[in-house]
Order: sequence, then C-alpha cells, then structure tokens
Amino acid sequence: MKIFQMTDALANKIAAGEVVERPASVVKELVENSIDANSTWVKIEIEEAGLQKINVIDNGEGMSEPDCLKSFSRHATSKIKNETDLFHVKTLGFRGEALASIAAVSRLKIKTSEGDQSGTLLELEGGKIINQRKSDARKGTEILVEDLFFNTPARLKYMKTIHTELGHITDLMNRLALSHPDVRFELTHNGRQLSKTAGTGDLLQVISQVYGMNVAKKMVPITDKSLDFQLDGFIAKPEITRASRNYISTIINGRFIKSIPLSQAIIRGYHTLLPIGRMPVVVLSITMDPILVDVNVHPTKLEVRFSKEKELFQMIEELIRQTFRQTSLIPEVEQPEPKPQQSFQRSIDFDEPKRDSGNSKSYFPPVTKKEQQFDQAHASDIKTGFQVNEQDYVPPVQKNTETKTVEKQERVPIMYPIGQLHGTYLLAQNENGLYMIDQHAAQERVKYEFFRDKLGKSDNTLQELLLPMTFEFSKQESIFIDQYEEEFKRVGLFFEEFGNQTYIIRSHPVWFPTGYEEEVIREMVDQIMDNEQVNIESIREDAAIMMSCKGSIKANHYLNEQDMFRLLEDLRKTTDPFTCPHGRPIIVHFSSYELEKMFKRVM
Ligand code: ADP
Ligand code: MG
Repeated sequence: MKIFQMTDALANKIAAGEVVERPASVVKELVENSIDANSTWVKIEIEEAGLQKINVIDNGEGMSEPDCLKSFSRHATSKIKNETDLFHVKTLGFRGEALASIAAVSRLKIKTSEGDQSGTLLELEGGKIINQRKSDARKGTEILVEDLFFNTPARLKYMKTIHTELGHITDLMNRLALSHPDVRFELTHNGRQLSKTAGTGDLLQVISQVYGMNVAKKMVPITDKSLDFQLDGFIAKPEITRASRNYISTIINGRFIKSIPLSQAIIRGYHTLLPIGRMPVVVLSITMDPILVDVNVHPTKLEVRFSKEKELFQMIEELIRQTFRQTSLIPEVEQPEPKPQQSFQRSIDFDEPKRDSGNSKSYFPPVTKKEQQFDQAHASDIKTGFQVNEQDYVPPVQKNTETKTVEKQERVPIMYPIGQLHGTYLLAQNENGLYMIDQHAAQERVKYEFFRDKLGKSDNTLQELLLPMTFEFSKQESIFIDQYEEEFKRVGLFFEEFGNQTYIIRSHPVWFPTGYEEEVIREMVDQIMDNEQVNIESIREDAAIMMSCKGSIKANHYLNEQDMFRLLEDLRKTTDPFTCPHGRPIIVHFSSYELEKMFKRVM
C-alpha cells in the first residue's frame, strides 16, 4: 500500500494554505463569522500587523459548549445542511473551514457564550485542544489568535513588511465597513485606534468615515429596483476621481466582491463625464435572490458568478447615467476655511493625490480628541466586551448630500456674459453668482452632441467613392482582415485584396464623417484586432469626439458678446453640459454667498 489517509491535522494544515494566506485573511474569516452571528459590534485588536496577535471580540449569538468544540473540526458549519442550502446561501461563510484552518497554524484561545449559562473557554495549539474550562456568561464570542504561522515557517517567511500586512487589514476593514453599515467596527493596532465606524446603518456616514468628509459631501445617492435586482448606494460626482479602480466598491447581498465587468458597467455609466484614465468613487450594493449568485467559486469568496449579468450591467449603467442627467454637476468654488488667502482652486480637487494602498495608513479620518476621550471613558466596556450602549458617541456626519435635483432645463441656469479672460475663459453672471466657462471645452461639448446625434441617426447605406482608397496593412492586420471579412461586411466595409498586404475600399457607409474616413476605417480594424468585433456605437462616438475637437475654437480666440451668449445658450441645451467629451470640466461656479464671504461682507 502506498496510499494513506491523511490525518485531520495534516489536512487542516493544507487547507489553511488556501484560506489563511496572510494575517488579513484571519481577520476576514473571524469578522465574517461575527457578522454571520448577527453581531452589531465587532472590535479587532491587532499587534504587529496580526503576526503576533489578532483578537476579535463580538456581541453576536455566541456558541454552546458542544458547538464550540465542534466548530474546530473540518467541514463543521451551522450555516448549511444540504445541497439545497448551498444554492441559497445568505451568510458570508458556509465552507466550515476557517476555524479549523486558523487553529491549525496558530495558538488560539476562544471564549464564547450564548448568554444564558456559563461560557466556554478553549485553548488550542496547532489545531489540538490543550485546555478547556468554563468562563463567564457574557453573550458573544472572543477569539484570540497568537503566533500565526508558528508551525509553517515557509509561510511566515513569505510575509511582507508590517506596513504591507497592516495595509491589507485596513483595506479589508474598509470593505467590511462599507458592506455592513449597520455593524459598528473598531480596529486598533498596537493599542492605537486606527479606525472606527458608528454602525448606525447610514452608508453615507460610513463613506465619510472611510474616505473622509470631502468625498462624502460629493456623493449622490442612487437606488433602483427591478424584478430581479435591488440597487442602492452612492456615486461620486465626476469632479472627484481617483487613478485606480480600488475606489469602486461592489457588494452583492452583503458580500464585498471584485468583478471587472461590474466595475466596467459602472464606468460606462459615467460615460464621458470622467477624465481619461481616471476612475470614480462608488459604493454599490446589489441585492438579489441568492439563487442567482454562485458564491462557491473561490475559497476566499472574493469572486462570484451570477446569472442575468447583462440585465444587471444594463440596469447599473442606465441608473448612473440617469442620476447624472438630473443632477447639477457644476463644481462649487468654496473658500478654504482655515487659510482664506489660499487660491480657490483648492476645492476643485478633481485631481486629488492618489493614496498608496500598500501603505499602512488607514483611509479612516484620524481619531479626534473627542473620540479619544470617549474611548478612555469607555475603556472598561471595551475590555469586558459585549455590552455596548447604543447611546454611544457617534461622530457627527452631515447627512445632506448637497445634491440639487433639478429639472433638465434648469441644470445650467441662464448666464449673462461679462467678458473673456485671457481669450480662453468666459466670465458670466446671474443672480446665483459668477461663472467661469472654458470656451474650448464648452464648444467641444456642443459640437460633440451635434455630431453624435447626426451620426447616430444614419444607417449603413453605402456611398460609392469616385477614387477608391488604398490601405496597406501589417501582416498581422491583413490576417485579421481576411479572417473577419464577414464582420467588416456587416459594418459596411468591403476590403478587396490587392496583394502585398494592400487592400482597396470602393465605398463606405454614408455616415462616415467627411475628411475622417481613413481614421474611422483604421479604428474599425483596431477594434477587430482587440475585441474580434466592431462596436459601431463606440466608433460613431469616437468619430463625433474627433470632429468636435478638431472644429472647436481654441484658446486665445476673441469672441464678441453675441458669440459668447450663443455659446452659453447652446451649452445649456446639451444633455451633459458639465464636462467636455474627454471628461474635463466646463463650468466652475462662485456662489454669491462665497463671494461675499471672501470679501467678508458676511461672516
Ligand atoms: P463557516 O463560517 O463556513 O460556517 P467557520 O469555520 O468559520 O465556518 O465557523 C464554524 C462555525 O462556528 C460557524 O458555522 C458558526 O456556527 C460557529 N462560529 C464561528 N465563529 C462564531 C462567532 N463569532 N459567533 C458565533 N458562532 C461562531
Ligand atoms: Mg466562517
């Protein structure tokens, strides 16, 4: 016999390799268990980025003594019982692996009680129970994990710096907080408080605690419902952007997930409102029947599969577009409070510096004095855990999102031109204050929408060319052209081979913009190479952008008063008057109130 059945201890150690990749994975599994046990408060105490100590205290349901003993064996779970349950998972966990795996690679203590009788205290080392006794009866669970990976030296070696590991933990806590606004989380590292949420169920408040007040103030609420999906969340106005996709948080049934197509649907919703290469800040929570989601794809459950994807993506894209169509998106110029002599540009911060996610700094705002005082006053609560008074101090958060939902024609009010600055910006006024308008960007927007409508209406009727066009392609391109002949015909391009990778085109669809035929054809070839199909919509859109940009008035161009008024009126009538087709802002507003404040006419 060569084949042996593994011992449970060995099997657990192997499973731990999958589930427990780093300290942050331990925190994730323990906190998710606390959430599944219906806790409303979870405190996480970390030392040395979790390599020395991770202590998770909750006020959830707790466990009975026999359950507690059982919870450390492999495939032991209270969350599913049969195959049917597997397709209706409502909890974050269900694999029954985490506790066994974590215990296998650490020294672990658990204290738990259901609150009605005495509690249970267990001590395990490398997965073996080494001590068991009764403990106090406070309802809830406390799990202390020490010396993580003490018996798997290879894994320990692989750990990065304290900063990196701590960065993973704060990232994770941000995600958990955003997906569970109704749970109050507290995170400390080496005794210092890193972050804390209020747990009042108010998502905007959590956003403010995670990303700061300045971002929260620029978030617009969204909500929509169909037969299959319920969408809720907040989307940042396009004036706030980031360089990475990490600020797009997607949550399905309370589970934070990563999905590129889902993020892409969100980005498409922003359409031309985002500057090139910039990403929005979004928290989107999707609720659907668990039968539509397969969470059993990945051991850490960060990726999921779901049905009716197309329908969902469409719904998200449309919701975001519609929301911005009804929102005034003119960035307000605010006077910086502490240092009035600073330039006003400060608050138009569409280019805020990117935060380094690999860094140990938390995204939560620093702890205030008041909060510190609170913690000292409640230090005893925190030590004994479990009983938390709801009247606890909650950091004040402005609820009003300052979103002006206005009728379409009022999104940009009538503005009366005053003059031109540096031949580049229009200055205009009305009773609401002063406006500065980038004249080039404004005209691009007007022309873009004009061409987009014009191009969008025409069909694929062909126009014969008097002089045929010749194209020379690379070897690779010509292979694609032969291979995708049918696709090209579908969009009205008939390539005639002329030898030597040269092709002739004798006609093209009439909608091709005059003067840009060659660019459009080249773009279609590029699209085939990238995506194996041509997306006419996006080609028409790019063509419209090209035409609007080339034909627009440049900076340093004098306009008379009539020209200015015409341009402002044309701009007002566009569907997206706030950004040019490349996503740069068009209008900036100085409210009368801000002006008066600057000149200290009001205090
Ligand atoms: P899973 O979460 O997939 O069920 P785990 O190994 O994480 O598997 O946990 C095993 C079981 O232990 C859970 O199903 C749950 O019944 C119990 N449990 C774990 N943590 C807690 C907790 N903090 N409070 C109450 N019960 C818990
Ligand atoms: Mg679990």
